[in-house]
Amino acid sequence: MNDSQPYDLIVLGAGVVGITTAYWAMRAGLSVAVIDRHPHAALQTSFANGGQISIGYAEPWANPRMPAKIFKWLFSKDSPLVFRPRLDWQQWRWIAGFLSQCRASASERNLIRIVELALHSRRKLREIRELEHIDHAHRQLGIIRFYRSQRELDSVRRAADLIQNHGCPCEVIGVERILEIEPTFHNHAHQLAGGVYTPQDESGDTHRFTQQLAANCSQRGVDFFYNTRATALLQTASDGIRAVETRSTDGYDEIEARHIAICLGVDSAPFLRPYGIDLNLYPVKGYSVSIPFGNSGGSPTVALIDDGYKLVYSNLGDHLRVAGTGELGGYRRDLDRHRCRGIIERVKEIFPDAGDFHHSRFWTDLRPATPSNVPYLGGSRYPNLWLNTGHGTLGWTLSAGSGDRLVSRILKSPGL
Ligand SMILES: Cc1cc2nc3c(=O)[nH]c(=O)nc-3n(C[C@H](O)[C@H](O)[C@H](O)COP(=O)(O)OP(=O)(O)OC[C@H]3O[C@@H](n4cnc5c(N)ncnc54)[C@H](O)[C@@H]3O)c2cc1C
Repeated sequence: MNDSQPYDLIVLGAGVVGITTAYWAMRAGLSVAVIDRHPHAALQTSFANGGQISIGYAEPWANPRMPAKIFKWLFSKDSPLVFRPRLDWQQWRWIAGFLSQCRASASERNLIRIVELALHSRRKLREIRELEHIDHAHRQLGIIRFYRSQRELDSVRRAADLIQNHGCPCEVIGVERILEIEPTFHNHAHQLAGGVYTPQDESGDTHRFTQQLAANCSQRGVDFFYNTRATALLQTASDGIRAVETRSTDGYDEIEARHIAICLGVDSAPFLRPYGIDLNLYPVKGYSVSIPFGNSGGSPTVALIDDGYKLVYSNLGDHLRVAGTGELGGYRRDLDRHRCRGIIERVKEIFPDAGDFHHSRFWTDLRPATPSNVPYLGGSRYPNLWLNTGHGTLGWTLSAGSGDRLVSRILKSPGL
């Protein structure tokens, strides 16, 4: 506990983004505190996500093909993307931003920025894993994104070329090659037109990774304030933030710091709004189903993406995690079992022996999404308040690199 001195850095939020930020700050020799309202790390959106570290999936959802698809899916309960309109101008502003990012030029620019950050992130994630001996059901067998129609496959060639040209090996492959890489497709190969294979992509359990990294940080001097809600930022007379006001079962408190990093996931936007920081960040709800293997031997070993249904498949050691779909409908986290059962039906169509479906676990949470899927990473209008949030569909993929980049920026700023 740092009783007298302010911390060098307070990290708000103990999801995968906050914990990797705290880790790099600790490694740089800073005194660090992490604050989260939950009793442990990674209990919100980083809890049961798709588990993929997928640079090959860097093309944002906002791309030129999406407006027509959205129109087709609009208001259908079973479509991969669902829109629930609300009287909330933040939602409509986000949609306007999303549509503007669907232009080919904007979408390609965003893709390139995401690939660049994701490549850095993969290097940093590997560094963490080696140094910290983290065991999180990690697999490095690549990822296959598969398509059912030749037209769909042809439409993603340009994005695949861009990803390849920017440093991530990425090949368009036929059905035979898919079967070589992942033989469990064999009975259902007739459903496929082909795929995009990124052989260096990975998968692993985000929750396990984040919890172990948090434990390592704690052992090496990072202070954790769990069950503690950040309620306000306390400003200095000049233009900075001097402390975070918190509330726990012990009541209200103030924790002082020289720098503060906002890693609050989907709560970042409402938290910052009273301070004149207006992030265009909105929740996009997703679901996951964890299917225990039991005695079945028909689960894929290689990580997969079913782009038509916006579902990702990751083998996490003793279960298959299938996650995805998107709902734009506000901050509610209620679990729609109909959506989860829909995911199970999709899995059974291709992998009927994937596992013990009766004992599947269902989960839902909110992706902190920007319209472009490019996160807010860097400074704010306050010189010592930093943003690392809005990682949308790729928070696990981008976390280690985002944390590293942010800490490098903080280290260059005055006041440390
Ligand atoms: C269904 C689904 C599948 C996904 N699949 C993948 C995938 O395969 N690969 C990938 O790269 N990404 C994936 N993602 C995205 C990824 O999970 C998120 O981008 C990532 O978890 C966001 O991490 P975070 O740390 O920003 O947010 P979070 O994990 O939500 O962490 C934010 C933390 O802030 C805390 N908090 C909020 N407000 C306060 C407050 N006032 N005081 C104290 N604490 C507070 C919360 O308790 C929480 O712990 C998926 C997401 C979903 C929903």
